[in-house]
Amino acid sequence: MAMKMGSVKIPDEQIERTGYIELSECCDVKGHEKVNMIHFHSEIICPRCFLIDRGQEFAYKKTMEHFDNTAEGRRSFFYKNSIVHNKNILDDGIKNYVNKDEKESFIKRQANQVAHDVIADSRNVFMYGGAGTGKSHLLVGILKNVNELSTEKRCLFVSVPKLLSNIKKSFNDPTELKGEAYYMKLLSDADVLGLDDIGAELSMNTTKQATDFTINTLYNVLNAREGKSTLFTSNLTIEQLGNLMDERIISRIKTNVIYMDFNHISDKRPIAYKLKQ
Ligand SMILES: [Zn+2]
Repeated sequence: MAMKMGSVKIPDEQIERTGYIELSECCDVKGHEKVNMIHFHSEIICPRCFLIDRGQEFAYKKTMEHFDNTAEGRRSFFYKNSIVHNKNILDDGIKNYVNKDEKESFIKRQANQVAHDVIADSRNVFMYGGAGTGKSHLLVGILKNVNELSTEKRCLFVSVPKLLSNIKKSFNDPTELKGEAYYMKLLSDADVLGLDDIGAELSMNTTKQATDFTINTLYNVLNAREGKSTLFTSNLTIEQLGNLMDERIISRIKTNVIYMDFNHISDKRPIAYKLKQ
């Protein structure tokens, strides 16, 4: 996290002696002990942030080395690196989505078609509708079909609430190598990315700081993914989402998008689960 600052006067003899100059300022990143920033090669750098970034880059490289570009390597990448609350969700497939009426049969057929469209044309997909209608289930199913059908696409499923909480946790733990820089790299490199449950944090009452963090994180991910397929699920419509986050994100979602409407699909969760809600 190198920071450029205004002109800083540096005594030549000090630069000659050490190659850098220590400043009396510290960075404002929370989560590591305060250390003085240094002026090095005409940049102002926090040595701790620098090391954290380097560590995460290294962790990411190690992750990728493990998954070569063979079909098998790519397939296992999906299972090993997807970010989920519960790994069992990755067992879902389109074929075990229970369809009881015409609406449900339609959405199931659409899911199969979408997997082909994602491979052929790098389409974005926006799946919206009420909780419990099986959006995450079909998102996983589509990604698994792409994962099996495509010879070159590396797929990743990411629960957005889980991702945000992992990044936040890493801010308070300087030894955690999987933090913001790591996840940014992971999510921007995936060829086909499923972002599950976007907007969930925003529709709850949260602080402005938390909202800004969510929006910035999403924006940075989508910005780094131009031209690649991203699939979204949300309990909100695209218009409702538009009221909660900025237009730059919405316009990226809408680019080359296929909508999948889960309204009027019955809640598929067990009754005991619904009563708890
Ligand atoms: Zn720092």
